[in-house]
Amino acid sequence: MEESRKISLERAEELKKEICGFMEFKKTYPLATDPVMTEREDRQKQQIMAYLNASNEQWEDWRWQLQNRISDAGVLSQFMHFSSEDEEMIREISEKYRWATTPYYLSLMDFENQEYAINRMAIPTSRERDTQGELDPMDEEHTNPAACITRRYPNRLIINVTSACAMFCRHCQRRRLIGECDSTKSRAQVDEAIAYVRENEEIRDVLITGGDPMMLSDEFLEYVVKGLRACSNVEIIRIGTRVPVTMPQRITEEFCSMLKKYHPIYMNIQFNHPRELTRDAVKACTRLADAGIPLGNQMVFLKGINDDRYIVQMLNENLLRARVKPYYIFHPKQVVGTRHFQMTVEEGLSIMKYLRGHTSGMAIPQYILNAPHGLGKIPLLYNYILESDEEHVKLETWEGKTAEISYFPR
Ligand code: SF4
Repeated sequence: MEESRKISLERAEELKKEICGFMEFKKTYPLATDPVMTEREDRQKQQIMAYLNASNEQWEDWRWQLQNRISDAGVLSQFMHFSSEDEEMIREISEKYRWATTPYYLSLMDFENQEYAINRMAIPTSRERDTQGELDPMDEEHTNPAACITRRYPNRLIINVTSACAMFCRHCQRRRLIGECDSTKSRAQVDEAIAYVRENEEIRDVLITGGDPMMLSDEFLEYVVKGLRACSNVEIIRIGTRVPVTMPQRITEEFCSMLKKYHPIYMNIQFNHPRELTRDAVKACTRLADAGIPLGNQMVFLKGINDDRYIVQMLNENLLRARVKPYYIFHPKQVVGTRHFQMTVEEGLSIMKYLRGHTSGMAIPQYILNAPHGLGKIPLLYNYILESDEEHVKLETWEGKTAEISYFPR
């Protein structure tokens, strides 16, 4: 055998060994679209539909999903075992922080295991009694120059159109805005926000968020998007939403046809776990992508949910299959009631370091920490530079080998 072929084969074997652990994991951890998971989802969906006396047609209707949200521990107990103390605890927590889940998201849960990632993101636990942390670590109150607007950067800003969400995630970093009840901004407030955008010519990029802006009717969303598109300084419009995850029925053909009239529109979604990438969620993403809307994912690192290198790799690789680019991974903020989801930056960096080399760059988002008091995003990067001076730089490769480069003489 040629020497070069022999070396290549040895290297291929070495690389194969690097991915063995993930390959083994994939064999033991079915995706949400694998038969064992879809069978459970379908079975649980039938149970929930029978309880709510619903038809398939109603299940597919996002307004029905919203109207039939489950927010009562007694109703949950129809599907899962909770002791009377658990039920009491859920009621006590819900007086402090709202909770509700769509029937759809409930059908993805494990009815036998409250520690399952999907359950933990949706159902209150006694861990939320912890009082450490802040309600507004981003200091959004003080970055609000006009109605609905949060401005933290020179040439872009956020418009918050509603405090409503399809589900009230237990890890929510914006609990302060989600508040006690669903409140949507008035047209007058939206007009004030659009006027602010128009009068500040440097604003070229507007993110519509909430709560979840997809709680608005198509008509109201079109009013906002159309108003922004009419501002000659606005180059791109982005929508931040978790609806493709928690209520994918919202992504209708009609909605996509409306939105694609106002390109360039981008959408950032928040998938936190591969088991959220169900058949319905993938269908919603496909519909949006087919309407020409580039999709990005903004995962949040959450202890007990995705603080695992293989879970993150599996999520990101399957997001790409669903035509969603992993865009950011956010470090969790110190929001009161979410201490149990807290991770350290070291833990986050170790997962990011693993991803480099073990998956393609397309599947590696930027790891971001939002600085307290609205000071902006800070990228968190593993330091691959071992030493450097005017003449050379010594670096660490993804495998931990050393690479050295000498610059051309100046
Ligand atoms: S959808 Fe977003 S804003 Fe709404 S509760 Fe979940 S994390 Fe919070």
